[in-house]
Amino acid sequence: MKENSNYIDTLIVGGGQAGVAMSEHLTRADVPHVVLEKGRIAEAWRSVRWDSLVANGPAWHDRFPGLTFTGEGPDSFVKKDRVADYFAEYAEKFQSPIKTGVEVSKVVRNETGRGFVVETSEGTWIAERIVSATGPFQVPVIPAIAPKDDELYQIHSAHYRNPEQLPEGSVLVIGAGSSGVQIADELQRSGKTVYLSVGPHDRPPRSYRQRDFVWWLGVLGLWDATATEPGKEHVTIAVSGAHGGKTIDFRELAQQGLNLVGRTDSFNDGNVYFNNDLAANINAGDDNYLSLLDMADEYIERNKLDLPEEPEARQFLADPECMTNPTTALNLAEAGITTIIWATGFDTDYSWLQVDAFDENNKPAQQRGVSKEQGVYFIGLPWLSRRGSTFIWGVWHDAKYIADQIVIQRQYQQYRIEE
Ligand SMILES: Cc1cc2nc3c(=O)[nH]c(=O)nc-3n(C[C@H](O)[C@H](O)[C@H](O)COP(=O)(O)OP(=O)(O)OC[C@H]3O[C@@H](n4cnc5c(N)ncnc54)[C@H](O)[C@@H]3O)c2cc1C
Repeated sequence: MKENSNYIDTLIVGGGQAGVAMSEHLTRADVPHVVLEKGRIAEAWRSVRWDSLVANGPAWHDRFPGLTFTGEGPDSFVKKDRVADYFAEYAEKFQSPIKTGVEVSKVVRNETGRGFVVETSEGTWIAERIVSATGPFQVPVIPAIAPKDDELYQIHSAHYRNPEQLPEGSVLVIGAGSSGVQIADELQRSGKTVYLSVGPHDRPPRSYRQRDFVWWLGVLGLWDATATEPGKEHVTIAVSGAHGGKTIDFRELAQQGLNLVGRTDSFNDGNVYFNNDLAANINAGDDNYLSLLDMADEYIERNKLDLPEEPEARQFLADPECMTNPTTALNLAEAGITTIIWATGFDTDYSWLQVDAFDENNKPAQQRGVSKEQGVYFIGLPWLSRRGSTFIWGVWHDAKYIADQIVIQRQYQQYRIEE
C-alpha cells in the first residue's frame, strides 16, 4: 500500500444520481465505500442544465423508490434544482459517505498489491474496487461541420441557460431531441426568430388515455428493452415536461412560428445547407408515436381496463409549409442568424481511468456494468442494461445489480479468511 493513502473496499467516482444509488445499495449490503464528487451532489442537475428545465417525467415516476418529492404533486414535473436537492436529501437520509469537492484525476492498477491506486485532488486512495458513476453526458459534442466564424455566437445546449444570454438576432438550434426542442420553443416564445433543424427522432405522446407515457413504457415493458438493433439506441427522444407536460408536436411548433428545417448537412461561405428530409423525419416520428398508441390500445383491450378512448390523439394538424416546401439552404446573414445552439449530444471522458476496461473504440467493455477489468464497474451509461439505465428510476435498479456483483466478489475473496 502507498504510504499515507486511505484504504477503502469500493470507491465510487461521481456523486450524481448514479453515485447516490450505488452508495445506497452498498450501504444496505454493508460494503465499506466512499463516493468522491468533484462538485456538489447532483452537480449536473445544478449547473449543466438550462434555468427553466423541469424533469421529463412526472414526480411519481422520476425518483428513487425510498423517497417521494415532498411539496410536489405526483403528476407535476419537478424543477431541475429541486431534483438536485432531492438527491442531496436522499444521500443525507442514509448518511451516504460522499466527499464533495474531491476530483479523481487518475486510477491505475495497484502494482504492489490488490486493487487500484486512486489519485485525487485531496490525496491518494487504495481501493479494491472502482465504480465509475461519472455520468452519461460528460463532454458536449459539436460536429465537425460547425462553421469557423467568429461573428457567430455558438454554444452547446449544455451551456445554454436562458434567452437573455444570447445576442440580438435569430437563432439556429441544431438537433430536435428533448433539449433542442425545449430550447427552441423557449427562444421562440421569448420573441426570437428561431430555426430548428430536425433529424430522426422518437416522439412519444406525453399522455394517452389518462396515463403518462412513462406509465405506458413501464406496463408495456419498454423501459426494460435492451439495445438489440445496432444503432437504434442513438435515436433521440423528443419529450418534455415544460408547460405542465405536453406532447412534442412539430406541426404545432411550426404553427406557433418555429421555422423547421431538415437535418443540417454543411456550412459554406456564410450559408447553411439542410437535408431534404424534414417531412420524412417528422413522418417517422409520427409512426413511432402512433405505434405507442396502438400498443397502449392493445394493452387496454387485453387487460379490460376502464380508460376512456382518445381518438383525437390520432388526429394531426395539416402539414405546414416547411414540410411541403422545405428550406434546404439559408444565408446566415440574410436570415439574421447570430447564434447557433448545438443540441447534438454528449460523449464520455475516461482519461482518468487508466485500466483495461475499454474496447477498441475506447468505450467501456462491460456487461450490465461489470467491466472486463476485474474490480471496475460502470453505472449510468445509456443502455447499460436497458432503455431505463440513464434515467432516474432505472439507474437505481442497475445499481442494485452491480452492488450484488460486488457482494458476490467479496464473498469469494473472504473464503477461508473468515474460518
Ligand atoms: C438536459 C437533460 C435533462 C434530463 N432530464 C431527465 C429527466 O427528467 N428524468 C430522468 O430520469 N433523466 C433525465 N436526464 C438523464 C439523466 O437522468 C441525467 O443525465 C443525470 O444527470 C445522470 O446522472 P448520473 O449520476 O449518471 O450522471 P451525472 O449527473 O452527470 O453525475 C456524474 C457526477 O460525476 C462527477 N464527476 C465526473 N468526473 C469526476 C471525477 N473525475 N471525479 C469526481 N467526480 C466526478 C460530476 O461532477 C457529476 O456530479 C436528463 C439529461 C439531460 C442532459
